[in-house]
Amino acid sequence: MREILLNPGPVSLSDKVRKAATAKDLCHREPEYFQLQDRIREQLLAVYDLSPEDWSAVLLGGSGTAAMEAMVATLVPRDGRLLVLENGVYGERLSKIAAVHGIEYQALNWGWDEPVDSAAVDRALAAGQFSHLAMVHHETTTGRLNDIQEIIELCSKHKVQFLLDGVSSFGAEHIDFNHKHVSAVAATANKCLHGIPGLCFVLCRHSALHEAAVPARTLYLDLARWNDAQQRQGTPFTPATNSALALAQALEELHRQGGWEVRRSIYRQRQQRVREKLAELGVEPLLPPAESSAVLRSYYLPTGMDYDGLHDRMKLHGFVIYAGQGGLAQKMFRISTMGEISDYDMRRLDGALEAAIGGH
Ligand SMILES: *Cc1c(COP(=O)(O)O)cnc(C)c1O
Repeated sequence: MREILLNPGPVSLSDKVRKAATAKDLCHREPEYFQLQDRIREQLLAVYDLSPEDWSAVLLGGSGTAAMEAMVATLVPRDGRLLVLENGVYGERLSKIAAVHGIEYQALNWGWDEPVDSAAVDRALAAGQFSHLAMVHHETTTGRLNDIQEIIELCSKHKVQFLLDGVSSFGAEHIDFNHKHVSAVAATANKCLHGIPGLCFVLCRHSALHEAAVPARTLYLDLARWNDAQQRQGTPFTPATNSALALAQALEELHRQGGWEVRRSIYRQRQQRVREKLAELGVEPLLPPAESSAVLRSYYLPTGMDYDGLHDRMKLHGFVIYAGQGGLAQKMFRISTMGEISDYDMRRLDGALEAAIGGH
């Protein structure tokens, strides 16, 4: 029995992606690697049909947090001022990144179960002389899909550059790259793209890279450094070569499947199925479906059951679920439906939920 990961990345892989990762040994200073790197960078732009005239896909080593940190530390210039929107762990992480790098910033904070209040953002942008705004698209803390479109419009109104943590939405949700105030989106290989951990990336407008902080605030996470090398078929440091082999295969599979919109509809069908089964078992979602991503949903723990109990029963049936973070750990759990999951696995999941919760 194959164990299925329902945590928000790393995900259950397709057999071909897993095999691709160990298919060969690559030296990262040989043409074979640079061809692979070029191909991945093109494939990443192709996910949202972006032109290399305007955009660059900058690959770097690390998890999604490295991409977030590289984006903020590189793209907010030395005289820039950042507004951060927080309604979960990852929004709060954007502020921590700004603080660590000594970037002048202000944060607007909402509760973890609350939406972003765009009127408050409008007022802050009007008052604050900001150069950049950073926020999370899919706040994985709760599964909320933040309404980025209205915030992008506000950035346009106030002439502020928009930086997005798209780590758990890139490849499965709509992102309006065409808006010229959208400067960069940070993401990773091992969430909606179904690759293995080790590589992350930031899609950047060339114009944003030209305005990058000088002198750089960071050596390893300096996107300008990675980009300059990659534009000339180079790499500044040793990249995660095996993760790159897997990512190229995973991107090929996304393309063949029909792209991000098809992936979103598959995730939505899976989420709906889980929600209906849990509703039968008396388990309620934290957020209404209209406010939730296709990727992950949060549910209240069944009455009389703690997270560990539920987790262990589900694991016995071959499914790894995920805990709530911080104060939410005592009252909720999360189910992500990214990754290679078959219809057979989804039917098994119904049975596992029934056995774990219904039989309790
Ligand atoms: C997973 C995730 C990250 C990155 O977390 P890592 O532990 O560094 O992989 C960042 N932002 C969001 C919204 C995420 O879901």
